[in-house]
Amino acid sequence: MAKLILLPGKERPLLKRHPWIFAGAVGRLEGRARPGDTVDVLADDLRWLARAAYSPKSDVRARVWSFTPGETIDDAFFKRRIAQAVARRESLPQLREQAGLRLVHAESDGLPGIIADRYGDTVVLQLTSAGAEKWRQAIVNGLVQATGCARIHERSDSEVRALEGLEPVTGWCHGQPLEEVLTIPENGIRMGVDVVGGHKTGFYLDQRDNRLLVSRVAAGRSVLNCFCYTGGFSLQALAGGAAHVLSIDSSGPALDQARANLALNPELPAARAEWLEADAFLALREFRRAGRGFDLIILDPPKFAPSAAHADRAARAYRDINMLGFRLLNPRGLLMTYSCSGGIGQELFQRIVAGAALEAGREARIIQRLTAAADHPVGLAYPEGEYLKGLMVQAD
Ligand code: SAH
Repeated sequence: MAKLILLPGKERPLLKRHPWIFAGAVGRLEGRARPGDTVDVLADDLRWLARAAYSPKSDVRARVWSFTPGETIDDAFFKRRIAQAVARRESLPQLREQAGLRLVHAESDGLPGIIADRYGDTVVLQLTSAGAEKWRQAIVNGLVQATGCARIHERSDSEVRALEGLEPVTGWCHGQPLEEVLTIPENGIRMGVDVVGGHKTGFYLDQRDNRLLVSRVAAGRSVLNCFCYTGGFSLQALAGGAAHVLSIDSSGPALDQARANLALNPELPAARAEWLEADAFLALREFRRAGRGFDLIILDPPKFAPSAAHADRAARAYRDINMLGFRLLNPRGLLMTYSCSGGIGQELFQRIVAGAALEAGREARIIQRLTAAADHPVGLAYPEGEYLKGLMVQAD
């Protein structure tokens, strides 16, 4: 096995169990390693630190599989780690009954570059690192064993793969392919999930609890749901007794699925729902000119900052959309606003929202902090895992 030897002092994050080794921390590589190969990571004084997956193309030059001396990285390792991740979720009552569940949340489950979402008896797998790519078959086997799922579909088509020098890979890799869009119940609402053509693995499971929260605050309110995707927040608002729900997305196929999802729930008052295919930035300016107002506004935009390098441009986009939101909020209205950008931390996001309120001339206060559901844990040693942050703000 090749040895990756760090520069003096660069062992510190690893001693705190942070799983990334940046290119700038590496002194030298002893021996030969291809992309994804397992290497031993040693401190400058040759003290053993970890076993990691080597990725010569990436700024994150290696991702740690194990901090346990002597632990072998083989098929059994992935079987064990995946079984642990599944067992963790089974031990949490709030997750036990969920048909849609994130089973493996990458670094925070000790499996860097590996995401697995379960929708009923279908699992969707996403591999984003050279190390994960190398162990694909072991990971598929581990998921089948831990879940007994009927089928696995791979959606390794995230743009972050390019940073690791990996091409997109998609397709069915276990069991009988599904011919149709599958349906899962979520908090009492049926949702169609297109695991082949939808975004990411087909659905945004991370917002499950926040969608439920919307059903609790929506009664009697006029609701504006921007970036609605397949209508998760919109349908929960209708279930919660909203007076009217206007939902916006720039994606026609997402809105088609949203309308189909509404039809899957005939008990909901469909006449109170309105769908608009538009750029949210333009639509909100238009509403402002038309003098419209809303009692509850949800802003769940896509990732504007994939990494810290994009943070400036992203910060402007968040400020703009939140400023537009504040301007459309009726007195005592609620704004539920999110950022899923890894490059924008919780503190910075709060400052951006504060700036947006100021610019819109609104006095407002945080009444709740919002985060991803429990099946998207954040490793204490890996704060980067906390990508989704949100605020529920009430304006005067
Ligand atoms: N809240 C959703 C997930 C939102 S994902 C849920 O609970 O499922 C972000 C969405 O923003 C995507 O559906 C994408 O199509 C949409 N989007 C991206 N840019 C947009 C823009 N400029 N205007 C409107 N929608 C946009």
